[in-house]
Amino acid sequence: MKDARMRPPVLDPLFAPVAVIDGIGPRIAKLLGKLLPVPEAMNEPRVLGLVFHLPHSIVDRRQQPGIAHSPEGAIVTLKVRIDRHQPPPRGRGNIPYRVFAHDETGEIGLVYFHAKAAWLEKLLPIGETMLVSGRVEWFNGRPTMVHPDHVVSEENAADLPLVEPVYPLTAGVTPKPLRKAIISALDRVPDLPEWTDPHVVRKQGFSSFRESLQRLHAPRDAADVDLQNPARRRLAYDELLAGQLALGLVRRKMKKSAGRTFGGTGELTQKIRAAFGHPLTGAQERSLGEIHTDQEKPERMLRLLQGDVGSGKTVVALLAMANVIESGAQAAMMAPTEILARQHFASIAPLAEAAGLTIRILTSREKGKQREETLAALKAGEIDILVGTHALFQDAVQFRDLGLAVVDEQHRFGVHQRLMLSSKGQHSDMLVMTATPIPRTLVLTAYGDMDVSKLDEKPPGRQPVTTVAMPLGRYDEIVEHLRKAVAEGRKIYWICPLVEENEELKLASAEERSAALKKAIDAPIGLVHGRMKGEEKDAVMQAFKEGETRLLVATTVIEVGVDVPDATIMVIEHAERFGLAQLHQLRGRVGRGSGQSTCLLLYKEPLGEVAHARLAIMRETEDGFRIAEEDLKLRGEGEVLGPRQSGSASYRLASLADHADLLEIARDDARLVIETDTDLETERGKALRILLYLFERDEAIRLLRAG
Ligand code: ADP
Ligand code: MG
Repeated sequence: MKDARMRPPVLDPLFAPVAVIDGIGPRIAKLLGKLLPVPEAMNEPRVLGLVFHLPHSIVDRRQQPGIAHSPEGAIVTLKVRIDRHQPPPRGRGNIPYRVFAHDETGEIGLVYFHAKAAWLEKLLPIGETMLVSGRVEWFNGRPTMVHPDHVVSEENAADLPLVEPVYPLTAGVTPKPLRKAIISALDRVPDLPEWTDPHVVRKQGFSSFRESLQRLHAPRDAADVDLQNPARRRLAYDELLAGQLALGLVRRKMKKSAGRTFGGTGELTQKIRAAFGHPLTGAQERSLGEIHTDQEKPERMLRLLQGDVGSGKTVVALLAMANVIESGAQAAMMAPTEILARQHFASIAPLAEAAGLTIRILTSREKGKQREETLAALKAGEIDILVGTHALFQDAVQFRDLGLAVVDEQHRFGVHQRLMLSSKGQHSDMLVMTATPIPRTLVLTAYGDMDVSKLDEKPPGRQPVTTVAMPLGRYDEIVEHLRKAVAEGRKIYWICPLVEENEELKLASAEERSAALKKAIDAPIGLVHGRMKGEEKDAVMQAFKEGETRLLVATTVIEVGVDVPDATIMVIEHAERFGLAQLHQLRGRVGRGSGQSTCLLLYKEPLGEVAHARLAIMRETEDGFRIAEEDLKLRGEGEVLGPRQSGSASYRLASLADHADLLEIARDDARLVIETDTDLETERGKALRILLYLFERDEAIRLLRAG
């Protein structure tokens, strides 16, 4: 819920719906909604959306070489005298209308298809000198210009934009009205107080917010629309600063309400270690040490545990939980899916119980009496660890004393949800685990200034996975290979192609594939997909785990965390459609046991450049951190974080790949502001409040009031 009354009135013109602009009616407003963000509870974009819709390139019309010297295919502006009109013969609509004109160098034909004669006679009157601008093409030694982009009379020469910004468009929105709307929108940008640190302004050569916008929408040359242009960098910085400030305020709020130390006695953790039976890796010990240090501090812990698939996050989380339980508190562990929650439960419960802990699971599937009992026991403090899904967010879920919330695969949850879970415990620590290693810049933007522990070392005995890329054309050969593998007793995952957010298509392709494989490979085959209910999914997974089925055809539901250690072959069909992070996640399903594992990336030819690069990286490395960095280079940040998170963390004006330097500066600046002007009360602080509203980060302002 946005509280419009809180917004500084100076921003009102920008927060108005686009229809307030002259010339924008309901129809265009609706079309613009396909191009620009439409805020919640509004039917159309805001004026601000237009202002932030930046050109990606320019059309340069400054070349005026004269007709005869106009290069083939070049955009030029010509000053010509109109000589004669040549309409198509009657009834021959497919022949264009031609207007001939000349300058001192030669003659040109201006060509129009399906044009009305009356309109053209008015546009290009015979005997007049006109400026025309457009692309010149030569046919049989004669220059022509098909549908000039601009035609103006000599006295209106100033109306012809010699350098024209080019905007991203969508079907139905044409450049001219869009440009006009943007120009009107720019008139509504108020002069705003400067919120950026004066040193940064000077060092970066920034102009004001308003001037920067004007410059970007009226470029003088290609450099003016470049991502590294100071005007663009200024806006990118504004957006990044707003983001960092908002996250910083959330973090401060969480840290401030603290004052709790978990010393731990070591009693439970010793038992768990003994039951686990393996020594922890160096990275696990180091991360655990970092977590314990946080837990002993009177501040709240806010830590991200990053670790590649199979790096052993679970046992680290369990030991962290045991530490708070030793101090008499409870712990919760939340996973994004039912399957994962059950799997965590299954792997943690034996160890926890060996140490004498009481552990329960709570998802939407726990119903009735059993649920009531769990909730009551939780409230009474009889449960030490509660594992669950989103169901843990519900009001009915009350802990006696929640000391630590562990959130797995956090990037599927949003910042709001993170706040919600932490509000379950007055002083509870938070440990976020992600199996997708995230590049540092993204950690900053998505999680703010979170402390980070990395599991960058795998438990011993892991076999590297052999990764092979093959064209789908070799399907028969591949199936034959799989048939032999199954006969040798191996277990295989077959991942069906990604289909655009359409469960029905996904299902159809998965069903088709499993039927085809069933025919070719004489073995029991399981099928798991997103349409299945939790119980069904679990049953299919269980059958695969126990070896009743040898081959599991799946849509991407198995993407996260599922553990079948003796599955050693992963086939990914249409691997070219998957992002790097996803491929990496999927590959992580194999190579978990002692057997030699293979990942087959089946692709459809021809491979695009980016897809080719992705598959090459997959063959080259298994290092999730490296893959994550490459992923960021190949695609936008929004995609790396997944659709949910990108809603709250992706940027409109800043590009993390291009403005990473600014992100660092913004982080430092936000940190300084929060230390020195905690409630944003100084002059600059007030200006920063405006900035937060401008980038719709104003939830953070409510935190200021909440104290
Ligand atoms: P992640 O959650 O990071 O993907 P898990 O915690 O599921 O990884 O661990 C993967 C597997 O490795 C599990 O079977 C786990 O028991 C095992 N494992 C974890 N740490 C160690 C270790 N230090 N030594 C041996 N095996 C380990
Ligand atoms: Mg895991």
